[in-house]
Amino acid sequence: MALRSGGAGLNPILNYIDGQFVASQSGRTLATINPATGEIIAQVARSNGDDVEAATQAALKASKAWSATTLEQRVKWLHSIADALEAKSEAIAHLESLDTGKPISLARRVDANRSVSNFRFFATMGGDDEVPTFSANGAVNHVHRKPVGCVGLITPWNLPLYLLTWKVAPALLMGNTIVAKPSELTPLTAHLLAETLDELGLPKGVFNLVNGYGPEVGQAIVEHPSIGGISFTGGTSTGKIVAATAAPMFKKLSLELGGKNATILLDDAPLETIMDDIVRASFTNSGQVCLCGSRVLVHEGIYDEFIHSFTAKVSALNVGDPMDEATQMGSVISMDHRKKVEAYINLGLEEGGDILTGGTSSHAPVANMPEEGAFLRPTVFANLSTSSRTATEEIFGPVVTVHSFATDEEAIAMANATDYGLAGSVWTADIERGHAFAKNIESGIVWVNTWLNRDLRTPFGGVKQSGVGREGGTWSMDFFSELTNICIRQP
Ligand code: NAD
Repeated sequence: MALRSGGAGLNPILNYIDGQFVASQSGRTLATINPATGEIIAQVARSNGDDVEAATQAALKASKAWSATTLEQRVKWLHSIADALEAKSEAIAHLESLDTGKPISLARRVDANRSVSNFRFFATMGGDDEVPTFSANGAVNHVHRKPVGCVGLITPWNLPLYLLTWKVAPALLMGNTIVAKPSELTPLTAHLLAETLDELGLPKGVFNLVNGYGPEVGQAIVEHPSIGGISFTGGTSTGKIVAATAAPMFKKLSLELGGKNATILLDDAPLETIMDDIVRASFTNSGQVCLCGSRVLVHEGIYDEFIHSFTAKVSALNVGDPMDEATQMGSVISMDHRKKVEAYINLGLEEGGDILTGGTSSHAPVANMPEEGAFLRPTVFANLSTSSRTATEEIFGPVVTVHSFATDEEAIAMANATDYGLAGSVWTADIERGHAFAKNIESGIVWVNTWLNRDLRTPFGGVKQSGVGREGGTWSMDFFSELTNICIRQP
């Protein structure tokens, strides 16, 4: 069956530096590929430190005038950007689906919507921002926000525009200029953002975009001495490199990293009403959301019933053409990633696990999809130890392991038996019990009877190896500003 990917007509994807769309200085390119078909969508500028230098110089040059604009003016800019992106919602969803292989319905509901609401949200926050004053000892302390200056924003492939705008909006609001680098696997919507800002006439140099590979572009951004803050979202192993590079330069650093989150069903969890949510928490975006629950911990009293219902629902998921409105799960991000996920499926078998549904592409092929497409069926493992590699390492694909527990204490120990600490969810008929239980989970966010329910005012970030720092609401505004204090003795 031919996939309805369509030609994007996007050749080539250039950098955006100092208000101009430009090729990489070396003239080199890389290809961005539709993972559902294996087709090349576009050639993309493959940049290096020279391009980062040019972008940084442009950002530094623009910094003085941009930081001198008023908060009200920047709030207006954010509203205008939100309006312009909203008008392009369908294009955003289409490009995101093309570049990532995610279902078009998901790209509309999550990626396009959230990219717009990130700008609207921070515009509203900025309008309401009040920095405090403190009086004591015959003096008044006036707290001021100042921009950091030029900041580097580095983002992954799973939620490309969603995560980029989550950083761009507060960075602009606080008066910073930007050097941004999207994932080399998903450059299309960052390009759309650059086009949008260009059309709106954002002053040149305020937003700069440099495409290319992490070690060639991301590393140069982190190393640049004039970039004062780095907001990075990506894998934990990359985060370690970013931290080791930035720390000796005393840069402001926000690291949003990997996860191996637990979904915990207590003995009173109402299975008949929550199963769709548990499937969604496990397999949204083919399990490629840092917040997905890849370990499902179920009380032994409801384990058999859960396994029966969960396996049936997961087996029935409609996996296929991302552009088909009815598709619930598309491809994974690339053939390389499919191989990585399949290596984990084989590891799970070697570690003694039983596959209840799914498996590698040769054992459980996705019907009617091209061989070049990076498709996998959602896979559920049972009977693995909670200390197995399959159950403790981040796979970041459509694979979950299910484990049973006897007591709440055992469930807490199992949930915390990982180096990660990003998110988790607890499911119970008793909200008080769920609330008390959630406090024991070592992670940045725990949902009770819900999942991926995000209030953008709340702090977001991980503990342990899932990251350092918090973004969201005032925490983003704090990260993208330097809070200073002027203390004035009163006459
Ligand atoms: P990745 O770490 O491979 O890449 C992330 C970004 O870093 C890319 O733009 C990449 O080019 C760049 N990069 C690579 N090497 C670099 C270097 N040396 N210096 C600077 N930048 C470099 O991650 P990925 O595979 O794109 O994304 C998946 C990972 O992201 C998963 O681990 C997932 O859990 C995590 N993630 C976390 C969150 C969160 O909010 N905590 C959100 C989404 C994804």
